[in-house]
Amino acid sequence: MEYCDVEGCNQPAHRSISYDDAIKSGLRFKTKRRRVYLCKEHYKIYKKNVKKFKRLEKWRWMG
Ligand SMILES: [Zn+2]
Repeated sequence: MEYCDVEGCNQPAHRSISYDDAIKSGLRFKTKRRRVYLCKEHYKIYKKNVKKFKRLEKWRWMG
């Protein structure tokens, strides 16, 4: 059984993603493995933050 790698979180893992993608979400992790685990709740936050990040990137690109 794997657990969420976000700092201060001990929920069971829901998805695993690459560390490079994971840090783009602004979340802080206990580990620096190439892949990190996210619980359901943190995966939701990750998805939301990455979308925001991509939009910012686009603005920067256009600006
Ligand atoms: Zn978590």
